[in-house]
Amino acid sequence: MATLEINDLHVTVEAEGGAREILKGVDLTVKQGETHAIMGPNGSGKSTLAYSIAGHPKYTITGGTVTLDGEDVLEMTVDERARAGLFLAMQYPVEVPGVSVSNFLRTSATAMRGEAPKLRTWVKEVKGAMEQLHMDASFAERNVNEGFSGGEKKRHEILQLELLKPKVAILDETDSGLDVDALRVVSEGVNRVRESGEVGTLLITHYTRILRYIKPDFVHVFAQGRIAESGGAELADKLENEGYEAYVKGGVSA
Ligand code: ADP
Ligand code: MG
Ligand code: MG
Repeated sequence: MATLEINDLHVTVEAEGGAREILKGVDLTVKQGETHAIMGPNGSGKSTLAYSIAGHPKYTITGGTVTLDGEDVLEMTVDERARAGLFLAMQYPVEVPGVSVSNFLRTSATAMRGEAPKLRTWVKEVKGAMEQLHMDASFAERNVNEGFSGGEKKRHEILQLELLKPKVAILDETDSGLDVDALRVVSEGVNRVRESGEVGTLLITHYTRILRYIKPDFVHVFAQGRIAESGGAELADKLENEGYEAYVKGGVSA
């Protein structure tokens, strides 16, 4: 079983007046096959955690470790992280000019599998996955993220997840900006991947509503740069009723 282990992670960003510590000792273990939800108020550092694991250059690791099966993730290039089996949906949030979805997916699959998938079976795989996500076939020929709506971006994210079958996937605010129908389609995709038992998922969200469609094994409350409480799916219900106030001393950390 592949295991992503985050141990006492401290991260700073450059801000006006110097470096500011955003992550203040995050501890978390995600195993293949498990679904974890990280929930917390805006500005608590959830995206910083995702970007830090992704290797975004804006974030400086000042302490702690991140390992995948004992291998030091923080020492890996972004490509090496993908090859090791980490999927970070926010890795390519920008437009990739002149690269079609189809080519982009095949390149990503090649990077993760270590060899290019056979073209004919690949085309079928992509077609099947797109149908399940209720995506029009023409989508494959569009350029990555160019003029994508919020919903299309999220579907593209789940399409990658389904095709690449990583060991551990980190999905940041996959539910934001989705209408109820799109939310259901996206959740079904996450659940399909989950049922394979091969993927560990870290679902980062501000809202509880996606958890009506995806039942996490573990829920973690993120507040002021660290995990303030962990529990099972019932913790999400408590958050839905009571909000985050109890976890935030003196207002949201921002
Ligand atoms: P969340 O995803 O929980 O809403 P973020 O991780 O986006 O929180 O932000 C946490 C804090 O770190 C905020 O105060 C935010 O302004 C700050 N921050 C995050 N990224 C940057 C950055 N690249 N530059 C400056 N400040 C940042
Ligand atoms: Mg510490
Ligand atoms: Mg965020």
